[in-house]
Amino acid sequence: MKALVFYGSGDLRLEDVPKPEPREDGDVLVEVEVALTDGTDAKAFARGHPVLLGPPPSAFGHEFCGINVATGQRIVAANSAPCGVCAACGRRQETLCENLQPLLNGAYAEYLLVPARIAQTNLLRVPPAMPSEVAALVEPLACCLRGVERAGIAAGDRVAVLGLGPIGLMLCACIADAGGKPIGVGGRAERRAIAPAFGAELGDGQGADVVIEAAGTEDAWLAAIDLVRPGGTVLAFGGLPVAARVPVDAYRIHYEEVTLRGAFHHTPRHVRAALAFLASDAYPFERLITHRVGLEGVAGLLADPPRDYLKAAVIP
Ligand SMILES: [Zn+2]
Repeated sequence: MKALVFYGSGDLRLEDVPKPEPREDGDVLVEVEVALTDGTDAKAFARGHPVLLGPPPSAFGHEFCGINVATGQRIVAANSAPCGVCAACGRRQETLCENLQPLLNGAYAEYLLVPARIAQTNLLRVPPAMPSEVAALVEPLACCLRGVERAGIAAGDRVAVLGLGPIGLMLCACIADAGGKPIGVGGRAERRAIAPAFGAELGDGQGADVVIEAAGTEDAWLAAIDLVRPGGTVLAFGGLPVAARVPVDAYRIHYEEVTLRGAFHHTPRHVRAALAFLASDAYPFERLITHRVGLEGVAGLLADPPRDYLKAAVIP
């Protein structure tokens, strides 16, 4: 079968590889209908990604919708599942599960094997009316739902979102649904124009009750800590490179009692909630998919994304 294989920074090759075969009871072979590009893919393409990809050469792509070859059912699956038995899972801190790795990759391919551990916990049937490319948003939307939960948003809170990429826009929808007032900060004109459709006003975010960093840059982390009101909460949603050290404003943290929290990944509960949220049609999630390519088009798109690009549907 055809698959994209990641060899290192900027080196993504379309290759003929063996079609995966179920190895143990419960493994699910999926014929991929559509995979979606995301910001993590772009970061991994540019610089590698120790958490997502492991050492190269590695399979690539982790947002997808496809057909369970054994049953003919249309399904989505998350890229991991908590083990349920480690110390972190025992505390219900499932995103910190000691056995989360390796994350599932390989959606940029004709077939993908979902291991039994993920299939048992985080594989869901897609409602018949839902387009496959919308269903494939379940994993990033689950991360956003969990992030918004971590942010502890109270009804009426003004919540600034730094970064209006697909994640920032999904966060806005989650914030609005949680009763907060999302304020889209920064971003290029094309993205700011879409933000109101996801429940957001546009503004500078100054003095917001909660600030969510969704740009994944050191500058955005620092801006978030500058913007939040005294006593407010900053959520570090975007990951930085492993060795990054951010000089945090100690005065704000101590004298102004600013809370700084991180959010990583998703839990099975949020994966289920994300699929239901997509099915609600409450927001135009389909507008996040701006481009459509074959496997051969992914590298070019990640290397030089068009101005109006948010996410691409990759049809293998
Ligand atoms: Zn665990």
